[in-house]
Amino acid sequence: MKTLDHWIDGKAVAGTSGAYGPVTDPATGAQTTRVALASAEEVDAAVAAARAAYATWGTSSLAARTSVLFRYRELLVAHREEIARLITAEHGKVHSDALGEVARGLEIVELACGITTQLKGELSTQVSNRVDVAAIRQPLGVVAGITPFNFPAMVPMWMFPLAIACGNTFVLKPSEKDPSAANLLASLAAEAGLPAGVLNVVHGDRAAVDRLLEHPDVAAVSFVGSTPVARHIHATASANGKRVQALGGAKNHMLVLPDADLDAAADAAVSAAYGSAGERCMAVSAVVAVGAAGDALVEKIRERAEKIRIGPGDDPASEMGPLITKAHRDKVASYVRGAAEQGCEVVLDGTGHTVDGYENGHWIGLSLLDKVPTGSDAYRDEIFGPVLCVLRAATYEDGVALINASPYGNGTAIFTRDGGAARRFQLEAEAGMVGINVPIPVPVGYHSFGGWKDSLFGDHHIYGNDGVHFYTRGKVVTTRWPDPADAPAGVDLGFPR
Ligand code: NAD
Repeated sequence: MKTLDHWIDGKAVAGTSGAYGPVTDPATGAQTTRVALASAEEVDAAVAAARAAYATWGTSSLAARTSVLFRYRELLVAHREEIARLITAEHGKVHSDALGEVARGLEIVELACGITTQLKGELSTQVSNRVDVAAIRQPLGVVAGITPFNFPAMVPMWMFPLAIACGNTFVLKPSEKDPSAANLLASLAAEAGLPAGVLNVVHGDRAAVDRLLEHPDVAAVSFVGSTPVARHIHATASANGKRVQALGGAKNHMLVLPDADLDAAADAAVSAAYGSAGERCMAVSAVVAVGAAGDALVEKIRERAEKIRIGPGDDPASEMGPLITKAHRDKVASYVRGAAEQGCEVVLDGTGHTVDGYENGHWIGLSLLDKVPTGSDAYRDEIFGPVLCVLRAATYEDGVALINASPYGNGTAIFTRDGGAARRFQLEAEAGMVGINVPIPVPVGYHSFGGWKDSLFGDHHIYGNDGVHFYTRGKVVTTRWPDPADAPAGVDLGFPR
């Protein structure tokens, strides 16, 4: 069995706490790796390495930083198959999906390659006689990133490329469930010429996270994960005086109006609900069918869902892989098993699904629940599995009111041919990301990603301009260069105007 070490100060460092976590192949259920779980002292060592590296990286030239990032981009492209295979082996998602994850992470590396433009600052000349004002942005110091299991490469890449491009140094604490991709990302960065200590990976669980949240040398924390943990991270890191952005969970709704192209809407609903086995924070987990759209739409979704091929992620024939752990699989199944009792119509029940030759894998088939009451567990909770709830609404207004009553506000989408309704929806929907005939509206790298309400704690969305702002702090410099010929200004106790 492989042992996965930390990556500190430019090299692999064996864990010393004596604690290890299991990493399993979700398709076989077999443990393949044990990952070292850091003690507080090991976290301190990673922060110390990052702090030492900041002394030179924080003042390095933009040219030096971007030349590393350009080389890094090339190495990531060259190794994308390998990264994707690692993701599939530990997360379970199908290979094409894993490649897509790498591509979306690469977008942020490419954005970071152009940091020169983003950090240009502002200058106003002659604001008063011989007085100029410059606004600049400077790095924060050591930044920590804590990431979830569902995108073991992309979510870390939402964070560290921009953070280090801005001159910070970084300590990443990836999910302990699928931690290997993070080490590969860090070793490729070293190969690209990133100085030791600029990017560190420390593995662990809550103990490691809590040390990062209280460490006096950590200036800021980026977190992506579930809502209860996001709330804890935001409260604790803020109480410790750190800047924090904490992205949480979701229940993303797709509103389908009766005038929509129902075939396109059904294709989109199935892709967005069941892709990556529903383990996406932007998965569509609730379809709100308005008026006459309902029955036909449910039938079209059912027809499509029944054809999805489930199997190991490394089999090119598979369209959907297993869930991350057996415990998670059982929890997802419990929502489907309890659905009928809570008033849902169970159109498809995937809980009994098995895959020949992979009897111990964390399998579950696709489930479709119709006429789901808003008070049911299946609707209220983020299930994070291949379970799609369909709710019925009489009118557009009822549909929007239902969506806006959700405590989550990550993404939402409308499917319609009515431009007026779509325009209203983009203004009225209480969510951070809205799709119009686009089911998973994840913004491109040069826009920012983030939800509202219980889907994000903090002011900044992640990557894009918000990312640059999050990883820098502003400074305004007011300068006067008197002309030697000027008479001395003299003392003036008045308020400068
Ligand atoms: P999680 O909250 O269980 O774990 C996320 C990270 O926090 C991991 O690194 C984990 O080790 C750590 N952690 C877990 N419990 C902790 C605790 N009590 N104290 C401190 N740290 C703790 O999330 P997950 O199960 O890995 O990921 C799935 C969740 O992430 C879903 O809710 C999903 O919606 C969400 N997610 C959100 C986004 C987004 O952009 N909003 C993106 C991806 C995933």
